[in-house]
Amino acid sequence: MTPTIRTVLGDLDPAELGATDSHDHLFIRSPLLPGEELDDPAAAEGVLRAFAAVGGRSFVQWTPYGMGRGADSLARLSRVTGVHVVAATGLHQAAHCDPDTLRALYDGLAERFTAELTTGLTAEPATEPATEPPGPPGPPAAPEAPEAPASPAAVRAGLIKVACDPGTTTAHTRRVMAAAADAHRATGAPIAVHLEPRAHPHLVLNRLHVRHGVPPHRIILGHLTRLPDVRVHRELAAEGVYFALDSPSRAGHPADHQAFDVIADLVEAGHASRLLLGADTTTRTARRAGGPTELLNDLVPRLARTFGPELPGLLLTANPAAAFATDWRTP
Ligand SMILES: [Zn+2]
Repeated sequence: MTPTIRTVLGDLDPAELGATDSHDHLFIRSPLLPGEELDDPAAAEGVLRAFAAVGGRSFVQWTPYGMGRGADSLARLSRVTGVHVVAATGLHQAAHCDPDTLRALYDGLAERFTAELTTGLTAEPATEPATEPPGPPGPPAAPEAPEAPASPAAVRAGLIKVACDPGTTTAHTRRVMAAAADAHRATGAPIAVHLEPRAHPHLVLNRLHVRHGVPPHRIILGHLTRLPDVRVHRELAAEGVYFALDSPSRAGHPADHQAFDVIADLVEAGHASRLLLGADTTTRTARRAGGPTELLNDLVPRLARTFGPELPGLLLTANPAAAFATDWRTP
């Protein structure tokens, strides 16, 4: 069986992936970011068209369940712009979700993640009305039909997004990580992790890998630049985890300015194969700064000037092709 990347239009040969924004958001909303919602399909289409115009071919959205993923729009946007789009299942920190929604989700969380990876994204509550009512998963969608018109129910997730906590690990996070590991075991899906500045990434590896058996090379850590200890970066890279360096083009956080140094250190330490790049556009303000287009227009030429012409291709194309490709299993 050949590993494939699960896009919103079907399973893709990794050789077709092309230049990839490995961590970003077309749609996202959170009660923690009022007034900054990315919820406009026309604006999302503009982002993908601009990305395609500078050579972008694939866009991986890390927005998990309950945060307005735009499930009804993703397939159409991919079709009209020609950009491959990967969607996520999973859950963020409890603070990003409605408490009543969370309570209703906890029973059967792994099953929901698994169904979203194998059958289709399920409807989110209230603010994202679905064209299909939520219910038990229907028959699996045909895996190889990228041209077929995709109904929202047939748009499958291609990764599981989770988050660690800003402080002590909460019961919510323990549940979500355990469910993500179960869904990984059932499907083979990679797990993408939002890191926090004060949460040690080894704790994430201990929980997902040591406790729950997820292989390190199936884990993608985001926001690495917020953790300035390069020895920790190197240790994790040596274990085989991937890093989505998701801030070099947006400068929305003081640590974002260190992104180039972090890349330089890991490349010089021989870990270039572990690095992915993304713009991680989470707000309207950030979107005005250019997002994925800046990733290709600004960062890539700088990487090529410093490390030679091979490195951008590795970080933008070869590495994501390996990180997101999976021998998909259906439970
Ligand atoms: Zn993100």
